[in-house]
Parts: sequence; C-alpha cells; structure tokens
Amino acid sequence: MKTILETLDSGTQWLQSKGVDTARRDMQLLLCHQLECTKIQLYTRFDQPLDEAQLAPLRDMLKRRGQREPLQHILGTVEFYRREFYTDARALIPRPETEELCEIVLSELHSASPARVLDMGTGSGVIGLTLAAEFGPKSHITCADISTKALELTQKNKQLLGVENVDLIESDSFSQLADQRYDLIVANLPYVPLSDKPTLEAELDYDPALALYSGQDGLDLLREFTQQAPQFLNPNGKIALEIGIHQYQEVEQLLDRAGFSSIHTYSDLSGIQRFPTATWQEAQEPEAPSTEHTPLTD
Ligand code: GLN
Repeated sequence: MKTILETLDSGTQWLQSKGVDTARRDMQLLLCHQLECTKIQLYTRFDQPLDEAQLAPLRDMLKRRGQREPLQHILGTVEFYRREFYTDARALIPRPETEELCEIVLSELHSASPARVLDMGTGSGVIGLTLAAEFGPKSHITCADISTKALELTQKNKQLLGVENVDLIESDSFSQLADQRYDLIVANLPYVPLSDKPTLEAELDYDPALALYSGQDGLDLLREFTQQAPQFLNPNGKIALEIGIHQYQEVEQLLDRAGFSSIHTYSDLSGIQRFPTATWQEAQEPEAPSTEHTPLTD
C-alpha cells in the first residue's frame, strides 16, 4: 500500500513526464479532492496509507490530467472572486485575470450599484453572477450568450450562488436585446487570434473554440461590439472589457472611433494592458448651423 506522500510524489513525477507545468500543485489538489480535505490536512496525513477504493478514482483523474485535460474540468468547480462556480466543457474556464476585471468594475467604475447591467458573452456566468451578488438587489444583471449550452451552465451557477437579480438570454451579440439600455456593459469576449492557435498550450483545446477565437487577429467580435454597444447604453453608461496581450492600442482606437470618452485601459497583475474601460456620454446637441454670411450668399 502506498502512503499519501508516496502517491503525491509518484503522481507528480508522472504528470511532469506528460508536460504538466504545475504537476505537484495539481497532484495535491487531486488528492485533496479525492480525500475531501484541505492542503494543510493533507500535509498532516502524509504517512497515512491509501486503499484501493481511494486509489482507483485517483488513477482515473490522473490519467485525464496526463492527457492535458484542465484540472478545473476534472474537479468540476473553480473559485472565482471568493465564490465557488461549476465549470465544464460547455464554457470557457474562468481565469484569474477575469477576477481583476470584476475588481475594477466594483472598485473603480461603480461605487454605487448600477440599475441595469449586461454581461455580454457570459459563458459560465462568473462575471455577471459575481456582480449580481456584489451589487445586490438594487442592480439587475442580464447574462447574454450565443451558446445554449453555456447558458445551461450559467443557470446552474445562478442556482449555486442563489442570486435572484439575474436573467439569462440567448443572443448572438446584441440581436435579442433590441431597445434595451444598460448603465454598465461588461464583456470578456473571445479575443484569441486564430493565428496563435498552433502555439497554445494543450489545455486550451478543452475550452470551446467559440469562446476563445475571434478571427485572425482576435478582434472581430470586439470590432462589432464597440460599434454596437453605444445604442445599448444609457447616458453616462460604462463599458469594461477584457482583451489579449498587445491588443489595447487597437481596442482604444475602436472605442475612440465609436465615440466613447474617458477611455482608459487597466493593467492586470502581470502588467499586461488587459482591461479597457470607457464611458458613453449623453448625446451631444447637434451644432447650430453657422449664421455667418459668405461672399457666395445672395
Ligand atoms: N484569457 C484566455 C486565454 O488566453 C482567453 C479568454 C478569451 O478569449 N476571452 O487563455
């Protein structure tokens, strides 16, 4: 029989041989999951032997991870902004940088709860549902996505969080949101350039392609979004986006051309300019026609 420590060591080595960068951490988390304990509890039980009933499911999980299936899919849940969410192949795995997007919205853009919020391309729902829980019942959040399957997962997460101030809508971009106006639109749209595909880590194959890629340069959906968003914003409404590395200058230009003001891109914790934000000012009065006479006036 193997002890917990021996299992941890041999599993780590095996995952390393499969090219998993975070082999030891992943093996610890798989053990914690199987034994239903915390990491600290795991350390205090290192000498404890594991029986076959505990080892068999662990072997299955290890095999999946060795095939580079993401740990989050194997565990089935992920922590996001201090809450637990379900995650699976129906939507993009929530990433830590997206927690930073929520933080920017909550601490920089909206000290008071906005009445109407849209999470465009909600996926698992982490952004919209987190904002629903943090803003509370004074806000109403619409979580929109083109994918029926993703919305099934959003619904499951809505129930898990127990938030009521949320509705879900299947919509290809803004197509099903005619005449709606929001005070805040948040979006983590697909932004990975198709041209990057061959160089990406194996785990990304498990995210839906629909949630990752957006044309050769990754900006197809952001181009469409920046043009359409103004029609769906109340005066002084704000947008907050997540984008990829090296995209911020182009996205700031798109926002500028669409007529947004107060354009500012926040960096993520790695220093990448990751989160463009902007405001839609109240429509300007059209300029009064000039009354000056020119020599050609009769
Ligand atoms: N941050 C993700 C990645 O590069 C992509 C998320 C997205 O396209 N919205 O792995």
